[in-house]
Amino acid sequence: MSDFDFDACVVGAGAVGLACGYALAKRNLSVVVLEKERAIGQGVSSRNSEVIHAGLYYPTGSLKARFCVEGRRALYGFLESHKVAYRKCGKLVVAVEAEQTPRLDAIQRQALENDVEGVSMISGKAAMDLEPGLRAVAALSSSESGLFDSHGYMAAMQGEIEARDGAVVLATPFEGAAPLPGGGFRIRAGGEAPASLDARLLITAPGLGAQTVAAEIEGFPHEVIPALHYGKGVYFRLRGRAPFERLIYPPPIPGALGTHYRRDLGGQAVFGPDLAFVDHEDYAVDPARAAGFYDYIRQFWPGLPDNSLDPDYAGLRPKIHGPGEPQPDFRLDDQSVHGLPGLMALFGIESPGLTSSLAIGEAVASRLTQA
Ligand SMILES: Cc1cc2nc3c(=O)[nH]c(=O)nc-3n(C[C@H](O)[C@H](O)[C@H](O)COP(=O)(O)OP(=O)(O)OC[C@H]3O[C@@H](n4cnc5c(N)ncnc54)[C@H](O)[C@@H]3O)c2cc1C
Repeated sequence: MSDFDFDACVVGAGAVGLACGYALAKRNLSVVVLEKERAIGQGVSSRNSEVIHAGLYYPTGSLKARFCVEGRRALYGFLESHKVAYRKCGKLVVAVEAEQTPRLDAIQRQALENDVEGVSMISGKAAMDLEPGLRAVAALSSSESGLFDSHGYMAAMQGEIEARDGAVVLATPFEGAAPLPGGGFRIRAGGEAPASLDARLLITAPGLGAQTVAAEIEGFPHEVIPALHYGKGVYFRLRGRAPFERLIYPPPIPGALGTHYRRDLGGQAVFGPDLAFVDHEDYAVDPARAAGFYDYIRQFWPGLPDNSLDPDYAGLRPKIHGPGEPQPDFRLDDQSVHGLPGLMALFGIESPGLTSSLAIGEAVASRLTQA
């Protein structure tokens, strides 16, 4: 009989924490997931584009490149077997000026190095034949890109954890942990019924709370905690009929993939997210930002009518780099970084974190259990 209440405690019931819990529960470990909110998936996982990324852009050998491709392949299978809604609609990355075509060539080369299936360069005419109304001089077509119901996905993972006798405990914030002398952690959980529990493994996946949670773990060296930067992105919704079937992306901008188009699962057209660094959690959508959206979107959709965009919602990317700094990789920090055996601390899980989540969960579980 184990001295621990649980084999593993996961902090955060977003897509990534739930995927970690699911991967650990599949290995027959007893799992508890602590979530501070009253429902799962209320953090970054509820304020994003719900795009399944093929894995085109990320530098060769990076965790983002590997997890996005592996995660995407696993995700389609998971969604299918759990009857979660998705649409593999494909995506066009469009060049609207001839000078942009070398950037599409570079993305295609990167995609091939990343082992991404279904990527091909097509002419502007071919793109415009596929999507009448589009303006493009060339496009990179990605058939593996899609959209999904991220909340249905998270609920299905919660179901998988609970079916293996794991627990997802809501309204229960992690408030601190101390390493136990013989290994494992004593964890303090708050909420209406504060409690202490012992777990052999501790995984922190609290999204925007990653830095705060790490600082609450006794013995976690503060100098290895990366700075948190909020990369805000807002969305506008089109009043009227969705013009295109596929995802439409411009070439990426520094720090983000660029304001893109999607027809969501409900059939409505949504544009966003843009990128602005902000200094606090703020989800307001300033209607004045629409002006920039009209100019930007008309580059690839000249037919966008005046006064047709309504403010929709905003999300915050949990960035660990500031404006102008190179975009770092996902961080899965283990003992080699912070010196605490049995602890995996995740930082900077921004896009493509949703697509990558199943692969991140598998990597975390196999690194912590060596299996
Ligand atoms: C604007 C935007 C667009 C994006 N678009 C895409 C996309 O199209 N495709 C894609 O693949 N990725 C996308 N992403 C990235 C993706 O959304 C994230 O990488 C992913 O959702 C992160 O999940 P998470 O579980 O790490 O974080 P979260 O979903 O934030 O989950 C963390 C959880 O931890 C909880 N928590 C925090 N502190 C504590 C505590 N002390 N105790 C207990 N619980 C705590 C929070 O309440 C939250 O529920 C986008 C991100 C943004 C911001």
